[in-house]
Amino acid sequence: MRVLLISDVHANLTALEAVLNDAEAYEGVWFLGDLVGYGPDPNECIERIRALPDLVALMGNHDAATLDQLSTDAFNEDARQSVIWTRDALSPESVAYLGELPDKVKVVDDVTLAHGSPRQPVWEYILNAKTATENFFFFVTPFCFVGHTHLPRIFRLSDSRAQADLFVPIENACFELSPRLILNPGSVGQPRDRDPRAAYAIFDLETKMIEFRRVAYDVRGVQERMRQAGLPERHINRLEAGW
Ligand code: ZN
Repeated sequence: MRVLLISDVHANLTALEAVLNDAEAYEGVWFLGDLVGYGPDPNECIERIRALPDLVALMGNHDAATLDQLSTDAFNEDARQSVIWTRDALSPESVAYLGELPDKVKVVDDVTLAHGSPRQPVWEYILNAKTATENFFFFVTPFCFVGHTHLPRIFRLSDSRAQADLFVPIENACFELSPRLILNPGSVGQPRDRDPRAAYAIFDLETKMIEFRRVAYDVRGVQERMRQAGLPERHINRLEAGW
């Protein structure tokens, strides 16, 4: 089974459509959270995601904040503005859908999914090897897939080492996952690794092969919709540079 691995769509329908077109055949979709926040198309993205085949979807911190399940105290002012805009925009159906999402799930025997980290699924960022190493105690499967940092990353814990190794995955290179590791496919709707193209991965459940991929999309069109919606200028600008 080929699984489409996506995270942090952030209400960017154009980026999501580009990924779905580019991904070719897939039989299942694992979405790692943050469907909304930042972008101009929250209801459209929710409708598109929930119609995907064999979907497993998680709740992210922006989804939780939009539902008022998480305080926005730790958000910066622009992010808080975006949460308020999204709350106003969401339909009752969208609110109900987001409210049902879990924040961590063992999806198959070998894989756990969490938005931020297995230790603190909604909020913790795994940005370095030290944090990753601590998190290996908080899941039992060989692999854990996370989102939240918007950075494609692999943290591998080998038997002989006390600390996990950090790898930045190479685009379009296929490789076999070996236990144990924590992996982030990057962000569909708001990449932060100075590459504005949408990021995602394809995972083969049988062979354990994974491929990290990027696809360009019409950033300017999304920026235009954000401007019309009155969303914060900082969030509009960051899309074209990928930060
Ligand atoms: Zn996010």
